Amino acid sequence: ILGVKVTALPIDTLLEDIERRIHSRDKGRIVAINPEKIMMAQKDGNLASLLNQSAYQIPDGVGVSIASKLLKGSIRWRITGVGMMENLLQLANEKNHKVFFYGAKEETVVKAIDKIQQSYPNLQVAGYINGYEKDEEVIVDRINEVKPDIVFVALGSPRQELFIDRNMSRMSAAIFQGVGGSFDVFSG
Ligand code: UDP
Repeated sequence: ILGVKVTALPIDTLLEDIERRIHSRDKGRIVAINPEKIMMAQKDGNLASLLNQSAYQIPDGVGVSIASKLLKGSIRWRITGVGMMENLLQLANEKNHKVFFYGAKEETVVKAIDKIQQSYPNLQVAGYINGYEKDEEVIVDRINEVKPDIVFVALGSPRQELFIDRNMSRMSAAIFQGVGGSFDVFSG
């Protein structure tokens, strides 16, 4: 859509592919594509290539599936960032994958984890850091100490996508998702 890729895989297939990546430690990042990001990418070529080089571009925002229909594409559904995160938490809870949370205010991330653990009692939380810690060495070291399978980054766009892009190659995890304001949603 206007030069931005969108993954046309339904959620079940997407989750199977993510599971395969976690098993083979084949790193991949998930970006949520919505009209705002498509517009940002028109003006920012770096952002456009960063989005297109991600493993999965989920169709967040109903505008994306409408555009797909108009362009005779196959996407007739929507996968929101927070919905994708929920699916990954469920997968992690079932398959014993470890998750890490980076982003939002300290009280928000703590409360979000508390609520998430109430819904997913078997979930292995590897750790968290609030989004106002800006020393990337500290963040990367912490993640590499606890070796999660999935890292959620909630810094807003495009800050979270840029953080993941700069640091993904040196972080010991398989799946990275930029989740915007999702920790605020989970914290209630
Ligand atoms: N945030 C952060 N560090 C920052 C700036 C923002 O952790 O330096 C957090 C903020 O606390 C909020 C989230 O990033 O939890 C941004 O959410 P927003 O809804 O603005 O993101 P969007 O979904 O619109 O990209």
